[in-house]
Amino acid sequence: MSDQNLDKMKVRLATTSLAGCFGCHMSFLDIDERLFELTEIAEFDRSPLTDIKHCGPCDIALIEGGVCNSDNVNVVRELRANAKILVAVGACAINGGLPALRNRLDIEEILRRVYRDPVTDEPRVPSSIELPLALDKVYPLNEIVRVDYSLPGCPPSGDAIWKFLTDLILGRMPRLDQPLLHYD
Ligand code: SF4
Repeated sequence: MSDQNLDKMKVRLATTSLAGCFGCHMSFLDIDERLFELTEIAEFDRSPLTDIKHCGPCDIALIEGGVCNSDNVNVVRELRANAKILVAVGACAINGGLPALRNRLDIEEILRRVYRDPVTDEPRVPSSIELPLALDKVYPLNEIVRVDYSLPGCPPSGDAIWKFLTDLILGRMPRLDQPLLHYD
């Protein structure tokens, strides 16, 4: 079979990081040499691994992080529109995680306190149409789009990500036994 036909049979993956710390992507890289195995059966669409900026039709989207601004909303909607299966990866994507600690506070007040003129100490909140608009709080993915699966952990281990992903790729219901399944 030609390389072109083999490529057509590959599962297409997209990954992105929203309001998170990138730790879930770092954990993904912990699959180490299995990345080579993965590239035999899958190819990457939009992902920090490819630097493709927009998602095309794909089979599986792995999303790390919650939704904290207008740009995050656009990204998660784009992935939902293009992916057959959307997975919330890690605590931030599932319930907002650490970034959602700000949800008890007023966003305007946070911005005024964080951005201050170094000389006058007066609030100087950046304002530009190029900056994404901060949302009132950090939302878990399932409050913005339909989520098909959640992969818990902060972060889920590389072994857990590998097991979950290969189950999906091979058409099996993803199943994590102890000790792969954890919530911290
Ligand atoms: S779940 Fe944990 S590791 Fe993953 S992005 Fe959030 S804080 Fe980082």
